[in-house]
Amino acid sequence: MISEYIDQEIRRFEDYALRRVKGIPNNRRLWVLTCMDERVPIEEALRIQPGDAHIFRNAGAIVTDDAVRSLALTANFFGTKEAIIVTHTDCGMLRFTGEEVVRFFAEKGVKISEVQLDPYLSTLRVGEEEAVKWFKFFTDLGAQSPDDVALMNVEALRRSPLIPKDLKISAYVYEVETGRLRKPHQKIHERTSRFEHGTVVKD
Ligand SMILES: [Zn+2]
Repeated sequence: MISEYIDQEIRRFEDYALRRVKGIPNNRRLWVLTCMDERVPIEEALRIQPGDAHIFRNAGAIVTDDAVRSLALTANFFGTKEAIIVTHTDCGMLRFTGEEVVRFFAEKGVKISEVQLDPYLSTLRVGEEEAVKWFKFFTDLGAQSPDDVALMNVEALRRSPLIPKDLKISAYVYEVETGRLRKPHQKIHERTSRFEHGTVVKD
C-alpha cells in the first residue's frame, strides 16, 4: 500500500525534525570537537553522515569553556555517550603566541583584560597575565604539537565535573597532508622498519 509507505516516511521525518522535542539523540550518540580549519572534512574523516553527531568547531580544536558547555549539555541531556576530539597538522594555532596577539590588539588600543569577552556574561573577564592564555595558542597551553593538544583535551574533559564519568572519550590527529586520521604520537613514517647499525629496527 502506498499510503503505508507514505505514513512511515512521514513518521520518520517527524522523528528527525522533532528529535529534541521527542528526546531522540543524534544517530551515533556522538559529540565531536575539531578545528575550524577548512581542510578538516570532519564527517568524511570519521566516516559519519549528517545527523550522526553534534559537531563543535573552534580555532585549534581546544577544550574551551564553550566546548565544555556544549558537551555538558549534549552528554547530560541529549543522550550523547561518546566524544571524539580531532586536532590536525599544520594548525594555525601553532603559528603564533598569545603574547603576539595581545600586542597586536594593544597596538590598536584594545586591552584584552578590559574586554567583555562573553557578550552575555559581563563578569567573565581575564586579568593581564591570563589574557595571553585566553587565545589558547598551542605553546601557551604547553603543547608542542596537535598530538599533545589532542591528549591534553582528553584530560581536560575528564577533569570537568560537568562531563559524565562514563562518557567514552577518544582523540585523533587528522593529517592534512595525507587526508588520514592517526592516534596521537603514532606517525606511521616513524614506525616503519628502518636499517640501523646492521640490524632491522622496529619501533
Ligand atoms: Zn587548526
